Amino acid sequence: MKWQGRRESRNIEDRRGRSKARAAGGIGGVGLIAVLVVGYFLGIDVTPLLQDQGGGQVVASGPMTAEDEAAGKFVSVTLADTEDVWAQVFKEQLNRQYTPATLVLFKGATSSPCGGASGASGPFYCPGDKKAYLDTDFFVTLERELGAKGDFAAAYVVAHEIAHHVQNELGFLAAANAVRAQVSQAKSNAISVQIELQADCFAGIWARAAQEKFASIDRADLEEAVNAARRIGDDTLQRNAGKRPNPHSFTHGTSEQRSRWFVTGYQSGALGSCDTFSSNEL
Ligand SMILES: [Zn+2]
Repeated sequence: MKWQGRRESRNIEDRRGRSKARAAGGIGGVGLIAVLVVGYFLGIDVTPLLQDQGGGQVVASGPMTAEDEAAGKFVSVTLADTEDVWAQVFKEQLNRQYTPATLVLFKGATSSPCGGASGASGPFYCPGDKKAYLDTDFFVTLERELGAKGDFAAAYVVAHEIAHHVQNELGFLAAANAVRAQVSQAKSNAISVQIELQADCFAGIWARAAQEKFASIDRADLEEAVNAARRIGDDTLQRNAGKRPNPHSFTHGTSEQRSRWFVTGYQSGALGSCDTFSSNEL
């Protein structure tokens, strides 16, 4: 992805650098547990990975490095791309205005209305304050632990979280979560899968529009995104954690579903093609 020297978003809240005291202040394991149980934050589910590693250990953040600075810029450019694309899609397909999300960059640990967050728990979107939360160290996890290589894998993660904001703006999250609060865990998980696959589809819409608008994406980039979607499928994550995949516990969809819905959004470019809530076949 071509990103150097391109427009950066103003909607970045950079909490890095001031997070050290916060992390040392002992959000630690308790904060991590909070983020895993507080309802309906929408993140990349790396729970199996955490368990695999003995879980719950939050690594305190160190000083900002050159890599952190570059990752922050990359996220900021990607966020700016999502703003331009979603403003256009909202106008063209819905005749309405898009209100952008804020993206919080943190290092180590931070707090949100959806619960405490640590980099180890993965990026997420909190509908409560309409902010996406991202520890850029997650990109290292993405590449080394999850096998999702390349800058566009990271861009896909940003686009996926912003897609949750799009869902929030469109009222899908509130509607889905109202139902989730009243049904069994298994049904709630199934609705979560519908939410997540729609976010993957929206990320595909973004990739297509960004490609047309900025010519910043090439074929290899798309393969990186599709691979990333595969790598964070529930079945693959559980298998990599040495477990037998349990479909009732899935909250994000299988590798096949995640990559397929991303491609669906990419190929159609249309919001209507991402209706995972009434699709007969997920
Ligand atoms: Zn998600």
